[in-house]
Amino acid sequence: MISIVIPVYNEEGNLHELLRRIFTVMEELSRPYELILVNDGSKDSSLPIMLKERQEHPNNLRVIDFNGNFGQHTAILAGFRSSRGEYVITLDADLQNPPEEIPKIISLLDSGHDVVGTIRQKRKDSLFRRYASRMVNKLMNKVTGFTLHDYGCMLRGYRREIIDIINECGEVSTFIPALAQKFAVNPIEVEVSHSARKEGESKYSLFRLIRLQFDLMTAFSIFPLQAITILGGIITALGIILGIAGFFGHALNTVLAGLVITCTGITGEYTGRIYQEVRKRPRYIIRKIYEEDNNE
Ligand code: UDP
Ligand code: MG
Repeated sequence: MISIVIPVYNEEGNLHELLRRIFTVMEELSRPYELILVNDGSKDSSLPIMLKERQEHPNNLRVIDFNGNFGQHTAILAGFRSSRGEYVITLDADLQNPPEEIPKIISLLDSGHDVVGTIRQKRKDSLFRRYASRMVNKLMNKVTGFTLHDYGCMLRGYRREIIDIINECGEVSTFIPALAQKFAVNPIEVEVSHSARKEGESKYSLFRLIRLQFDLMTAFSIFPLQAITILGGIITALGIILGIAGFFGHALNTVLAGLVITCTGITGEYTGRIYQEVRKRPRYIIRKIYEEDNNE
């Protein structure tokens, strides 16, 4: 069986087309499948639309309804827990990831790969997002030691072994493509096409994007903390040299103050996340799971 997991947050304008295209693709494949939609606290009519669709596809479609907004990656994790397929495919609900690419991912899983990553071709996002992603991809590969080309593309495929390991991870803030890469034995990356968001707007403000990048960094590397220590050593040495030379500048003071605050911030990111982990609150709260014969 193939499980398809999709996080949904205010996607009322996209759901009809998304489901129609997925059902077409999956019926053509004629392999057993289940579609798991995780409603991440949508405030629009996404939930009623999904429940209506369930009446037409009661055996293939499950809806997990969160009681609030817990974030894209958390929603996907809930979908993983509920999935029963030998393969699990994830994609976004906004049609930026064309469902027609799913068979390509399945055939790579068929040929023995346990994680199929993807690289967006001709990415249809703002120049800022594309440029920022390029930087993040490079930086993350440096600090994690992975060699992924596109951390951000969520159209991906995983074998059951990988999903089982991910399900055992209890961490609160995480980043699924990197987590899977960590456990992959035989991963591969493949190019997929990319479209502009069909309806609605991106759910990531600049602030949320930055927070997500911190999730990615802190969950997979402590390199920034080590870099701070090294930087501190270098600056101290520099201070001694400048002291001996009898040179003090205002600009230098400002730059150093900035550096200190940044470093405190980075340290704080880790500390805050440790705090989140030790509190051991539930990662998400499910209001209801709509499956098989319950639809009220
Ligand atoms: N999403 C979610 N919870 C959130 C934010 C986003 O479930 O808090 C879903 C959203 O509905 C979509 C996917 O995650 O299916 C990717 O979101 P979006 O398209 O806004 O991100 P972008 O493409 O701008 O990175
Ligand atoms: Mg999108």
